[in-house]
Amino acid sequence: MIDTSPPIADTTKTTTCYMCACRCGIRVHLKDGRIRYIEGNPDHPVNKGVLCGKGSAGIMNHYSPARLTKPLLRTGERGSGDFKEIEWEEALSLAAKWLGDIRATEPRKLALFTGRDQSQSFTGWWAKQFGTPNFAAHGGFCSVNMAAGGLYSVGGSFWEFGDPDWERTKYLLMFGVAEDHDSNPIKLGIAKLKARGAKFVSINPVKTGYSAVADEWIGLRPGTDGLFVLSLVHELLAADRIDLDFLVRYTNAAWLVIRNPSGANDGLFVRDEEGKPLAWDRATSAAIDAATPGMQPQIAGEILLRDGRRAFPVFHLLAERYLDGRYSPDVVADTCGIPAATIRRIAHEIADVAFEQAIELAQPWTDTAGRRHETMLGRPVAMHAMRGISAHTNGFHTCRAIHVLQMLLGAIDTPGSWRYKSPYPRPIPPGPQPAGKGSKPNTMLPGMALGNPRGPEDLLLNDDGSPVRIDKAYTWDTPMAMHGLMHTLIANAHAGDPYPVDTLFMYMANMAWNSSMNPGEATRNLTDKNADGSYRIPHVIYADAFFSETVAYADLVLPDTTYLERWDCISLLDRPIGSPEGPADSIRQPVIPPDRDVRPFQDVLIELGVRLKLPGFVKDDGKAVYRSYADYIANHERRPGIGPLSGWRGADGTSEGVGAPNPDQLQRYIANGCFWQYHHKPEALYYKHANAAYLEDAKRLGLIDSTAQIVLQLYSEPLQKFRLAAEGHGAVQPPASQRDRIRQYFDPLPIWYPPFEQSLPEQAAYPLHAITQRPMAMYHAWHSQNAWLRQIYSYNRLYIHRGTAAALGIEDDGWVWAISRHGRVKCQVKLMEGVNPDTVWTWNAIGKRRGAWNLSDDAPEAKRGFLLNQVISEFLDGGRQLNADPVTGQAAWYDLRVRIEKADGPAETAPRPGVLHRPAGLRAAPRTLAYAVTAMVAGRKTEDGKQTPPPPVGGGRGEGSKQTSSAPTSPPPVPLPQREGEKVQ
Ligand code: SF4
Repeated sequence: MIDTSPPIADTTKTTTCYMCACRCGIRVHLKDGRIRYIEGNPDHPVNKGVLCGKGSAGIMNHYSPARLTKPLLRTGERGSGDFKEIEWEEALSLAAKWLGDIRATEPRKLALFTGRDQSQSFTGWWAKQFGTPNFAAHGGFCSVNMAAGGLYSVGGSFWEFGDPDWERTKYLLMFGVAEDHDSNPIKLGIAKLKARGAKFVSINPVKTGYSAVADEWIGLRPGTDGLFVLSLVHELLAADRIDLDFLVRYTNAAWLVIRNPSGANDGLFVRDEEGKPLAWDRATSAAIDAATPGMQPQIAGEILLRDGRRAFPVFHLLAERYLDGRYSPDVVADTCGIPAATIRRIAHEIADVAFEQAIELAQPWTDTAGRRHETMLGRPVAMHAMRGISAHTNGFHTCRAIHVLQMLLGAIDTPGSWRYKSPYPRPIPPGPQPAGKGSKPNTMLPGMALGNPRGPEDLLLNDDGSPVRIDKAYTWDTPMAMHGLMHTLIANAHAGDPYPVDTLFMYMANMAWNSSMNPGEATRNLTDKNADGSYRIPHVIYADAFFSETVAYADLVLPDTTYLERWDCISLLDRPIGSPEGPADSIRQPVIPPDRDVRPFQDVLIELGVRLKLPGFVKDDGKAVYRSYADYIANHERRPGIGPLSGWRGADGTSEGVGAPNPDQLQRYIANGCFWQYHHKPEALYYKHANAAYLEDAKRLGLIDSTAQIVLQLYSEPLQKFRLAAEGHGAVQPPASQRDRIRQYFDPLPIWYPPFEQSLPEQAAYPLHAITQRPMAMYHAWHSQNAWLRQIYSYNRLYIHRGTAAALGIEDDGWVWAISRHGRVKCQVKLMEGVNPDTVWTWNAIGKRRGAWNLSDDAPEAKRGFLLNQVISEFLDGGRQLNADPVTGQAAWYDLRVRIEKADGPAETAPRPGVLHRPAGLRAAPRTLAYAVTAMVAGRKTEDGKQTPPPPVGGGRGEGSKQTSSAPTSPPPVPLPQREGEKVQ
């Protein structure tokens, strides 16, 4: 009898997906020791069983022929791809020698930078123990404007920090969100909105993904979101459609701001002797503690204080600013590329939903002032935003503007509005401050390298004013660079500016290609030599699981495992998976042992920590504190009782949040599907910034240190402190050349200004905006070696509005040059209607360097794919002015301007940098990238132990093409649900 439904698996293990950054729970089915099928974990709080295309295709990443197989030592020139395989002992000894020499002399000469690393609380802690201030991950490159704008305004932000109230929202405004951000949760949420008939408005220059399913698409010009938002603010203020009760109780609207032009206290809050901000009480005609319950605060008009000082309430300053005619829809419409009537209508619609369709939950709660509320009032307008608005030189203020709009509507953590995800909200301004000053030989830093400055005194400047960090974060160039500046690292290290480094140590950061704003310059810098023939950057260590473009530029390559072969923790100390209902965290467990000579990077860092005898890594007798990263996850305590994981703490596993390490903690996670979650009581679920029950529970769980109200900041005093320094006040002041700049961009109320690149000379020569989008099926550069995902995208086009193309005489499928100030790239065109007419765009990171990722030299990714980064620069106008937000240093990817010209010649993209040679140990890619084929070829031996012959090489399918391989394919595994009797681990 034929078994039509044979068991797919003999074992099923739960773990956490890492095919993008969303951290969905998955169940991995294995048969005969091989992965056969991945499905979403229906119990998991992030994805509730939903799995995207990338997640399903994780099998093909795991068995990818691009996996590195053994440590490599460079034998030829950098970039040549000439390596020899070495044993781990030699690799670790060499790394420990280089790093040990640095630590004993000048620890800052190590720069440890990671990419989309989900262990930053560990890698950052390692850097601190080493003693280098030069640590950062990918945030400055991605969305630090979102994080900084949010944390300094409302004590939280979007994505990991907050969510629309999907169950109750009646109106969602979504700004610049790519399809890969918060991917499955947003898809689930939008489905809920649609089912309920809520309105979903997407603001994005490009109508793809979420925008394509929105009820209304607003295709504004890139970089004008902030102006659009401030025009909405103008309309709401003019129509008196704001929530004054919310503003007075929960924001600093009534706090008094000193008016003392050119004085040292101008623009600061009026405070009492204890430092408490004061508001004017109309009942007593006195300035009193702004948190006094029952006071009658004055929110408009000038106030003469008893000591003779003049002051204005924050709300007065805000209304004065945004009621100005320059924010009226009629004035901003042309700049934004949106009709004034549309702006007015959106303002009217959100006011109508917030105030005429308010929600009232019959849920009593008590606020931090002790007031009992019988219901929870909700303003069901939610907002969500991401890198599309933040990757501009005006991104920080745009993010602040959105939060001000939310506050004016009373739509922060109320039923139906945007909600904090645990462990947020956090106090404002956020802490702790950045450490890094006084880096000394053989000494750890006093704190973590990255932090949150409260004013000029927290800048990382040496006594002579020179930068402490190699990327110049926390200097007057970018004072609030709280995620560092990965994009300046290689250029600064090459220039020895502000000082030379000895070793670049990078982890899963593809900085020779798509994680660089200028890959051509990055590779030149990495290969440039001194007159004596030595490299300008003496040592480069790179850790990655795959043969990415950066591998060839390393001296020492430390091969990482795939995400299915190792332990990880998605920690509340890092980027958590909490929800508005409560905190949550999760782990990865190895579902399969490595079949190559590779090691998890975190284990490698622990081993190096021991060899270097770093504090925290060795005991007094010199023995290792942690045997492995798994041991660290279970036993490390960052503070007494607080460790990487919050579930099942305490010796017997009965504590949550705070408790002693539990030797069985990881097993408890595995038994629970590799995650832990906690639910706050219903009375604690909204108004968390001022909800006594929530704040007490959060403190008990170790999420925050204080139960004090977190007052939302319409007006940001830390920004004003930087401004005062620029006006000549305080001990730390900017140089004369920076003063105007700081004065302009550190406005305590949100401002809008045109993106920097638009303000450069000869703007008319570059009339079009050029931006990238990220597709649902690809994440960064990670998936072009993935046989299944390559069938969806293996090359990218430049998308142009049909009308714009017609005016330029460009036809569909034609080839063009996209020319910027920095260079030109040749690409193929696709015409469409759903794009702002002044904007061209393409998918990000589909284009690949020839040979990289073990693709064939003529793979479509290299032949027809291109990278917009090839015409971007980290510096503007050929000079040293950063192409970055002046407040946070966020890379301004989306400020790019181009012109389009028809191209002749072969149907291939250009420039096409030289072929990267496969390093030793990497087999040639198979022509057919199918499951069974790649599974064998990626390993070194066949399943019967024989060496596989190198198969011919080839590529995948093109974007929308019908190309198929002529070689026979093995059938892919048949996806079947879990069967009864299968073991789940
Ligand atoms: S969204 Fe997809 S790729 Fe990302 S973690 Fe979830 S399942 Fe994995």
